[in-house]
Formats: sequence, C-alpha cells, structure tokens
Amino acid sequence: MKITFLGTGNSTGVPIITCKCKVCTSANPKNKRLRASILVTTDEGENIVIDTSTDFRQQCLSSEITNLDAIFYTHPHADHILGLDEIRAFNFTHKKSIPVYGNKFTLDSIMKTFHYILKPLQRGGGVPQVNLNFIEEGKFKILERIEVEAIPIMHGIMEVFAYRIGNFAYVTDFNKISEESKNKLKNLDLLILGILREKPHSTHICLDEGLQLVEELKPKRTLVTHTTHMFEYEEFNKNTPENFEMAFDGLTVEV
Ligand SMILES: [Zn+2]
Ligand SMILES: [Zn+2]
Ligand SMILES: [Zn+2]
Repeated sequence: MKITFLGTGNSTGVPIITCKCKVCTSANPKNKRLRASILVTTDEGENIVIDTSTDFRQQCLSSEITNLDAIFYTHPHADHILGLDEIRAFNFTHKKSIPVYGNKFTLDSIMKTFHYILKPLQRGGGVPQVNLNFIEEGKFKILERIEVEAIPIMHGIMEVFAYRIGNFAYVTDFNKISEESKNKLKNLDLLILGILREKPHSTHICLDEGLQLVEELKPKRTLVTHTTHMFEYEEFNKNTPENFEMAFDGLTVEV
C-alpha cells in the first residue's frame, strides 16, 4: 500500500490568511500545508481517503486521483469534511456512488452540513452520491478484503475515530486516548500523528504529549500531521528524535 499526504495543516491551513509570520511567508514548499487528509492506494490501485478536507479538489488534482473507492471520516469538523461535494466528479466519471464510513455522530453531522444529499426531491442536480456505512469501534472489512480497525480517541468532549490498516494508523485531532485504544496502536510500522503545536491545547495534543505517546507506543516511524504555522518544517525535524518527523503535502510512503 502507498500512503500520500494530501494535506498536513491544521484547520486554517498554512499560510494563514492575513499572517505574515516567518512560516506563513516561508519560500520552502514544505511549510505550505493544505488541510489534513491522507490517500491510501492499494497494490491493486484502489484509492481510499481518510477525510475530505476543505482543499480536497486541489488535492485530487495535484495527486492526480482519478478513482475513489472509499472514504473514512475521523470526525465532522469543517477542515475534515468540507471537500465532500467534490466527489461528484468521481460519481460523474464512474457512474457509481462511493462508500463512506464513520461513526453515527460523524455521519449524522455530515448529513446535516450537506443536507441536500439525502433529499430525494433535489436529486438529479449533481448531488454527491454516497453509501453511508455507520460503523462502531472495532474491525471491519472494506473492498471485501482490507481489514480496517476504528479506534476511539477523544477530541475535547467528542469521540472521534483513529483508523488502523495493517501496520499503519492515522491518529489525528485528539487530546485524550484510553489505555485500551493505546493497546490497539502497538506494533506499528508507521504512526501518522496529529500534533497541533508546541503549547498545550484543550482539544489537541501538543509536541511533548506526542513525544510521550510515541515513547509508549514505540512505532517504527512517526510522521506528524495537522500542524499549525507555529512549526517550521526544517527546525521541527532538527529538534525531534530520529524516526519522528513532520510530514509534508505530497509526501508518499510505502507501508
Ligand atoms: Zn482538524
Ligand atoms: Zn503565520
Ligand atoms: Zn477537529
């Protein structure tokens, strides 16, 4: 499987509109972060995305995504869902609806935001075609053979999902994780971890909490995503341990 980082920024993206800080004005392309999402491409060429970010259209064009076979949602915050309307292009081309997975709260919230999707009277005008799959924590299969595990983590007072597929996991937008969920994130070759910034935050983990978690989980490699303009790419990687690096938009990794 191949993982492509479609976006690695926090909810505002980097640069932030109006900000003139050194990261927002940096010429280094690795300091330009679209909203967070990953693409998982199977060896057979199927494409799965985790979240459809605000920048999804641009991300599909840059990564030349021509088919989309499943969407997982971590949670219904704007930066993770607002690209959903863009899947119409895949619907038009392939003439089929796309399976969407998430917990009940997430999918219900998305269907409130995109209320027109489920209104039969408004169909026919280019509405995203989706098959909703309400999932609970635990393991399930997609595309008849790929096992995915939904692992609950807490994002403030909201329970959101991390996803594990084989020996990699996508774990973003959280500030608390139970021992039980930690146990499900052991023996990873790759941990993709959302760390917002250096200072503590009420709904996200900060750098120290991320480093501490990695000490406990001991993944072979950690790639950090969902970062703000407070982290400069080169400085971050200089000051963090080996095998613990910031990802960047467009990075691809084989797992
Ligand atoms: Zn977010
Ligand atoms: Zn800035
Ligand atoms: Zn969030």
